[in-house]
Amino acid sequence: MEMIKFLTPFRFYLNNICLQSCHVRQTVQLVGNQITLNRLHKSRKMSTCNTEEKGNLQKIVLKLNKLMPIALAEDWDNVGLLVEPSSPHNVSKMLLTNDLTPEVFEEAVNLKADMILSYHPPIFSPLKRLCQSDWKQKIVVKAIENRIAIYSPHTSCDSIKDGVNDWLLSAFDNESVMPLSTKDDPEFCYSHKVSLLIANGDHAKLMESLKAFQNVSSIFNVTTLEQEKVHLSFVCTKSAVAKIGCLLLEYNVENPVFSEIQKPPLPGVGVGRISKLGSKISLNKAVEIVKEHLKLSHVRVATSHGPDFNCDAENIKSIAVCAGAGTSVLRGVKADLYLTGEMSHHEVLSAIHNGSSVILCEHSNSERGYLSLLKEQLTTSLQEYNVDVCVSEIDADPLKIV
Ligand SMILES: [Zn+2]
Repeated sequence: MEMIKFLTPFRFYLNNICLQSCHVRQTVQLVGNQITLNRLHKSRKMSTCNTEEKGNLQKIVLKLNKLMPIALAEDWDNVGLLVEPSSPHNVSKMLLTNDLTPEVFEEAVNLKADMILSYHPPIFSPLKRLCQSDWKQKIVVKAIENRIAIYSPHTSCDSIKDGVNDWLLSAFDNESVMPLSTKDDPEFCYSHKVSLLIANGDHAKLMESLKAFQNVSSIFNVTTLEQEKVHLSFVCTKSAVAKIGCLLLEYNVENPVFSEIQKPPLPGVGVGRISKLGSKISLNKAVEIVKEHLKLSHVRVATSHGPDFNCDAENIKSIAVCAGAGTSVLRGVKADLYLTGEMSHHEVLSAIHNGSSVILCEHSNSERGYLSLLKEQLTTSLQEYNVDVCVSEIDADPLKIV
């Protein structure tokens, strides 16, 4: 067994694992304060070394990142490619799961999956070791040994249009749906706005000079004022600000202002959703719709506090949703009904005394059904690579009502 030592002294926070070799299967092992890479002979059929082959992992990841942009995930999250077998790695079968448990991992091995997409990231807190005593670490080791890539979209899917929250609301007759908080457009690269007054005539020459600069938008806002003056404004990146300041010294400009700008929000993208229904429904009807949509026989319900509240009366016009744990996202939102996976006792009390009924369906029950929609989206998106996308039949919420 050949041992390759690296990373010493050892301070290794494992968030993304990238191992390199196309001839061997590898595992990562801790020896003292060093991490060693053990080269093992292959026991499973290896991916071909032809990097141009269809279904190459890098190409698949590019597609996934486009569909579920990492930039839209929450800052605290750990999304994207989490386990990367040594290159080249081709993907012909992808298993979708809400949670990557040992049982689901065995299912992936039995299905000969080359990649697992786990909605919840199986690596979340930084790992300091990869040992058999911890069930999550054990899965990561097995993924490397079996050459199975792991990808997690998590809160990117919460934010994107037609993501998990839009799916959760899709069972209702929605007149309009809005994110509870918006996300900035990650593609919009400008951070500053420059505005100034300049003599009419000089502005054209200044604009020509600015057009030669990199990182300055080619779109100028020009307003002709009285007294032969022009108000000129444009946007640029932070790196261009100093150069623009120097350029303006060559012109007779008045009131130059550099201000930081917020990036424009992406329409329909953001955390949580609030729906205005086409017509009012009763709480009992809402419960019926949720049970059918999520294929559940039971949900937990808290009715809005008030002497006149009637579960059969059509008094629900707005629904706020957050797949998974909705406490922080739904807190303070004005809606007739909250729909989420889980909330604490005290948060439920606050909600019903502030006029919102609550339906709780357990954390992953509010997310899992979305995988069927994601399967369709991925099958279409990865069509050119012939990837067989399937949804786990074993994955289930750990809590049962008995
Ligand atoms: Zn969740």
